[in-house]
Amino acid sequence: MARLPDRLLDFFPDPTVLLDRRRTVVLANNAARDLLEITAAGQDLAMSLRHPRVLGAVDEVIGRDMSRTVEIVLPGVTTRNFEMHVAGVPPTDSSSTIGAVLVLRDQTTARRAEQMRADFVANASHELRSPLAALLGFIETLGGPAGEDPETRERFLGIMLRESRRMAGLIDDLLTLSRVEINEHVRPKAPVDVATVLVNVTEALSVQARGRNMPIHVNYGDDLPVVYGEADQLFQVFRNLVENAIRYGHEGEPIDLKVEPADSIPGIGKPGIAVKVRDRGDGIPEDAIPRLTERFYRVDKARSKSLGGTGLGLAIVKHIVNRHRGHLAVESELGKGSTFTVYLPSEQDRPRGGRSRQERAQAS
Ligand code: ADP
Repeated sequence: MARLPDRLLDFFPDPTVLLDRRRTVVLANNAARDLLEITAAGQDLAMSLRHPRVLGAVDEVIGRDMSRTVEIVLPGVTTRNFEMHVAGVPPTDSSSTIGAVLVLRDQTTARRAEQMRADFVANASHELRSPLAALLGFIETLGGPAGEDPETRERFLGIMLRESRRMAGLIDDLLTLSRVEINEHVRPKAPVDVATVLVNVTEALSVQARGRNMPIHVNYGDDLPVVYGEADQLFQVFRNLVENAIRYGHEGEPIDLKVEPADSIPGIGKPGIAVKVRDRGDGIPEDAIPRLTERFYRVDKARSKSLGGTGLGLAIVKHIVNRHRGHLAVESELGKGSTFTVYLPSEQDRPRGGRSRQERAQAS
């Protein structure tokens, strides 16, 4: 068989190392040299990868017809998780110097996704547990002598209603989030009338806004390009943003909704429209802004809860905007207020030119 060029291994994206029967590095591909800082062949693997479990597995299989898989964590600026596969190479003919082949597979993204899922379930359960515990406590109390007092009963029933609504709101938001995530990869194709969506949002929230004496001003620019989207989902986006403006804006101050053309959407570079929701409230600290769209993240947890927030509103906004291939930008000044801008592109995805892969295969 032809001898393979050493550089061939450099084409493998996974760090790969060939070892001789004394555990010395014979060959390391580019990815392995970068990751393990192997500077030259001829050094013991232990110089670059000191993990006892790795070395134990390598020593076990070297020169033998067996393999081992070990999970390892490599420290660094960001810790990374790897699955190390090592296969022994039994001595076949005397010319072969290779004793083992070691491959590292980066599992960081998969592990992070698992961790995020686990955290999400823990957070969602925790969020549901506190109103539920409050309800149980009040039901027990009302079942006792305190339930005889009409005033206490009235007060407790009021709290129970609020806590039940909070749970219902949380479940609604969780369901919305999972529905949005399911079709996030499918961009809506139909043109949408954003002006009508905004009118519907202001109508739906008019009682809430009036309750805080906050007028909502809507302002449309001229010559707005057509954008493509799903009206129900965009309603949800602007409802969440205007609801936040009502919640976190100062009582008696107006909320401005402004729609204008955007020549180049930040980060996307395509033209479209910008819908700005501006409040005059306390604003958001700069270091909190990048975290706002994380699930259950709140700048002030107690305040959000007392105002009926679930901590999921902006996560839903982010996913819907992503589905529309748009962009969400947040500007805020402490003590002055915040502006949330939703950019929506006006260009359709370009239909792919030429024949499909299947058509090409059939033609050939
Ligand atoms: P919530 O249900 O708590 O409002 P969101 O996901 O909608 O959850 O928002 C997350 C957090 O971002 C809120 O708890 C609040 O701290 C902050 N926030 C959102 N919108 C505003 C705003 N317009 N002004 C100030 N803070 C805001």
